[in-house]
Amino acid sequence: MTEPTKTLCPYCGVGCGLEVLPPALPGKAVNRDKEGYPIWQVRGDRAHPSSQGMVCVKGATVAESLHKDRLLHPMLRDSLDEPFRRVSWDEALQRIVDRIQTVRFTQGADAICMYGSGQFNTEDYYIAQKLLKGCLGTNNFDANSRLCMSSAVSGYIQSLGSDGPPCCYEDLDLTDCAFLIGTNTAECHPIIFNRLRKHHKKHSQVRLIVVDPRRTETAQAADLHLAIRPGTDIDLLNGIAHLLVRWGDIHPEFIEECTTGFASLMEVVPHYSPEIVADRCGISVEDLETAARWWGESQRVLSLWSMGLNQSSEGTAKTRSLINLHLLTGQIGKPGAGPFSLTGQPNAMGGREAGGLSHLLPGYRFVNNPEHRAEVEQFWGLEPGQIAAQPGYSAWEMITALERGEVGLFWIAATNPVVSMPDLVRTKAALRRSPFTVYQDAYYPTETSAYAHVLLPAAQWSEAPGVVTNSERRVTLCNQFRTPPGEARPDWVIFAEVGRRLGFRKQFAFNAVGEVFDEFVQLTRDRPCDMSGLSHDRLQREGPLQWPCPETETPVPPQATGLNRWLRWLLHRNEEQQQPAKRLYTDLRFNTPDGRARFQGYHSRGVAEPPDPDFPFVLTTGRLYGHWHTQTRTGRIPKTRQMHPEPFIEIHPRDAEKLGIEQNKPVNVRSRRGSACFKAKVTTAIAPGTVFVPMHWGTLWAENAEANALTHPEACPDSKQPELKACAVQLVLADVKQAETAKVEERSGKLETASL
Ligand code: SF4
Repeated sequence: MTEPTKTLCPYCGVGCGLEVLPPALPGKAVNRDKEGYPIWQVRGDRAHPSSQGMVCVKGATVAESLHKDRLLHPMLRDSLDEPFRRVSWDEALQRIVDRIQTVRFTQGADAICMYGSGQFNTEDYYIAQKLLKGCLGTNNFDANSRLCMSSAVSGYIQSLGSDGPPCCYEDLDLTDCAFLIGTNTAECHPIIFNRLRKHHKKHSQVRLIVVDPRRTETAQAADLHLAIRPGTDIDLLNGIAHLLVRWGDIHPEFIEECTTGFASLMEVVPHYSPEIVADRCGISVEDLETAARWWGESQRVLSLWSMGLNQSSEGTAKTRSLINLHLLTGQIGKPGAGPFSLTGQPNAMGGREAGGLSHLLPGYRFVNNPEHRAEVEQFWGLEPGQIAAQPGYSAWEMITALERGEVGLFWIAATNPVVSMPDLVRTKAALRRSPFTVYQDAYYPTETSAYAHVLLPAAQWSEAPGVVTNSERRVTLCNQFRTPPGEARPDWVIFAEVGRRLGFRKQFAFNAVGEVFDEFVQLTRDRPCDMSGLSHDRLQREGPLQWPCPETETPVPPQATGLNRWLRWLLHRNEEQQQPAKRLYTDLRFNTPDGRARFQGYHSRGVAEPPDPDFPFVLTTGRLYGHWHTQTRTGRIPKTRQMHPEPFIEIHPRDAEKLGIEQNKPVNVRSRRGSACFKAKVTTAIAPGTVFVPMHWGTLWAENAEANALTHPEACPDSKQPELKACAVQLVLADVKQAETAKVEERSGKLETASL
């Protein structure tokens, strides 16, 4: 009998376990796609604790894209106007190494930037950090996770003392009240939503509150849908805090023993009376009171959020305002409760652990902490002071550095910024200015490949083993089951080879990916994300495991005194002894120096670009069930493409009527930065004054339909995460002439791609 290969779905951060079987099984017909190509067979892995055999359409069809439009060989050209020519790996790598050396010695190491991806395995992330931050001495490594969940990272760090979602998926089965804000979980994290929905349906007393300006599929399942105006999340959260305090539905002992900063919150909440909040948010006082009452009377409140809170110019303030509610009511560190961020990318969590953002170092360390730098320098065998003390460029700061001509080498890997970055007109112009861009990806073409000087073929999911961490801190070893096509190589292998060619032979003397992981986990020892007890062998043997997973797992009693902490700790000790990593903070001791979580009150500032008479609508962007990000995979899979064949704009009937917009008619959408044209979807699912566009379409998949041609890069000052969820736009009914102009412009863009 053929044994299936165990792996993990490479799409979203839910991290569903998959079992994969070859296209041809003994005695069975060969499994083929519609074009007749043999396809590996994918099914949910019932033994995977995170997903228990469930899988959504993206996971089920992922193998259908593996053979399509692959980049097979390294390619090179001297300018963007020239065609690529095929070169050997040796020539491509030597060109990169020579360029790195030239840039280092003429402009300095900070003129080198790498923009990576939550699609990386942890080992890829780790080796990239060692190369950039360690050996080259620049912190200019950032990842597309910056656009996805960096506000959750900063919120956790500032409120709880450390990154790391404290909850686990079992909490979905145990909660009394699920509070979903800024997350269309039903479409974007479907397997989590299925589990929560099952629990909700089975237990009539369980409440489901959904906060979203749109009536999404998630909102349709809610007991209470709060369709707030975009940018009023903090008003709502402060309004709930106001009522909880007014009604005495708070946990004074928890606040007293386990937190600091309560006064800061209390300076803010008196300003958020129900009447003021209801008016600002565009909801009724009754609905606001219902949400606060359900929160206050529930034994176990679980909040879930994703990009709706994170992608904001006040993203950290939003996540902290949500965490404030948990601290106010003691809803953390116990089953069925806590603040639970959902990650978008499959290994955004692993990226955080490996230091894969420009302010981080491996093991939840920070580049601006001298002790952290010294620990890592010593471990990597580098000179003291080799790691730069300042955070590197964030994703958008790399674009502005390109604009200023300060980047001598830009290396993009496993991501497609020419669709996913904000303000695409500016992004593309900046990339055109880049004197030397390396693009490392599995697929060709993508929208970004048109801006590269060097193309490096990368092995993707299924073609290289490696480790991935999902949203509940569960670490899975993804096994290889195919040979990389052509000359494709794993990302970490490419980075390590460049490191060796630069003279860092000792630092990159790895023979196998398991050795890379073994080295990485040593850097997590005694850190909050301790994985020193994990190895490829153990994960293979025992299956997926959650962190913290230290080498010796001895339960540690609470260090702070206080009757409540002891009682709670004793109560949960047995369970936690068996599964010590299931939930964080069960001892009610947080990762701050004094062990207390921190309140911080914030006033709402609203969206960075509010609507005005010239641009009277708020555009919000989002994702659809069948597509993933910029469609590099899902656009190449017939089933998912057919589910969502074309982009659209959701508009309320009242607004549509005012502007003479009819169902399915093209609408020109303009912001201060760019324009696009979408078919109108007239629906009451969106509130008047707000419009919605999915972000999945770049120029490869549709004409003039890029959501991010409209968005702006204003970002949260703490997390540097851009506000992709809200910008001001105007709508104009597209006339034939405009549509033709758009097509001509678009065609020239396509020709640029085709000339490759
Ligand atoms: S829910 Fe996410 S991880 Fe699970 S199968 Fe779907 S896309 Fe993959």
